[in-house]
Amino acid sequence: MDLKFSNKRVLVRVDFNVPLDKNHKITDDTRIRKALPTIKHILKQGGSVVLMSHLGRPQKKKKEDGSLDVDRFTLAHLRGHLSRLLRKKVQFCPETTGKEALKMARALKAGDVLLVENTRFDPGETKGDEKLAKEMSRLGHLYVNDAFGTAHRAHASTAVVAKFFNKNQKSAGLLLQAEIENANKVLNDPERPVTAVLGGAKVSDKIQLIGQLMNFANNIIVGGAMAYTFIKAQGGKVGNSLVEDDKLKLATRLLEKAKKKGVNFYLPVDSIIADKFDVKAKRETKPSKRIKKGWMGLDIGPQARKDFAKVIGGSKTVLWNGPMGVFEMKPFAKGTLAIAKALAKATDKGAFTLVGGGDSVAAISQMELDDDVSYVSTGGGAMLEFLEGKELPGIKAISE
Ligand code: AMP
Repeated sequence: MDLKFSNKRVLVRVDFNVPLDKNHKITDDTRIRKALPTIKHILKQGGSVVLMSHLGRPQKKKKEDGSLDVDRFTLAHLRGHLSRLLRKKVQFCPETTGKEALKMARALKAGDVLLVENTRFDPGETKGDEKLAKEMSRLGHLYVNDAFGTAHRAHASTAVVAKFFNKNQKSAGLLLQAEIENANKVLNDPERPVTAVLGGAKVSDKIQLIGQLMNFANNIIVGGAMAYTFIKAQGGKVGNSLVEDDKLKLATRLLEKAKKKGVNFYLPVDSIIADKFDVKAKRETKPSKRIKKGWMGLDIGPQARKDFAKVIGGSKTVLWNGPMGVFEMKPFAKGTLAIAKALAKATDKGAFTLVGGGDSVAAISQMELDDDVSYVSTGGGAMLEFLEGKELPGIKAISE
């Protein structure tokens, strides 16, 4: 961030897409706190800041009469908390762009902060509308993108807006820079052995990544519901476990590719199985390839926990994305906890450990181990696409 911010009005795209409860209280402010260094840096240099972000999916969750649910999705809910964190009164504009927003932005003095309304209230945002992006660009002399969580989207505020600034008028924020640097530590010349731990529910989201990871990882560990697609592809009986049948062939191909490349591919040898998807379900420990009819694997078993922890313990670089089981329910959280602990231990021994976004971040902070790994990313989908080797529109736009 080597722009000169003194006496400049800086339009900063942040990712303030935080979870709110029914009373519009923030339940996890991590994303807001992660954006503070960039905001404070600009203010300290004598600039003023116009913040824009999306919150939720207001276009998809409209009221019955078809109008926007402003009460639910307004960024005004964030103003008080942000003011407390910054120790200054943050101004709020109930519009994202237009006359009022422009007037308020132009009246800012050095050290002032203005938060404008949810970018997704305008349907042009997700369409990458140029007119809207141009209107947004009028809010600042300079543009800083610090929203890694949406950097994989070519939206008006994340990518298109950057067109209206010269190369020397735009930059990545401190958080975006840190995200890129840490992801690159895994991608470029990592210390070996490299282990990738993948879990979660949707194979289709991550299967491409598995193929890509094989080009540089020494070990690949697959847990969570994802594992059962691979186990079924190998002829295992997985009962009612979550399986993506249309991905069975691809799973077989990936297992063959791993063999050819000499990549160790680990699946859970045993599972905690349940007779229904419920916290109060009956539970048993069984080999993952012999799950009873009507039962389902909801967590990795005790042997798998040991196997996976051993591989992680012997690694110098570890990437983790996705829980090992249904960690939201305590009886099925042990596998995920074991991975989090193994990562913390490996970090302590000098390994570089990256937790890549989404549910694994929720899991690791629920277990209060987020300070014990090397880096916790704020971007789920964005981190995965970056690691797949894709160029993210939000990053590309500020560098051209
Ligand atoms: P994803 O969005 O693909 O990272 O998936 C995260 C979700 O996967 C979490 O909500 C977990 O509860 C869920 N999950 C993990 N393991 C299992 C499993 N064995 N069966 C069903 N859901 C699972």
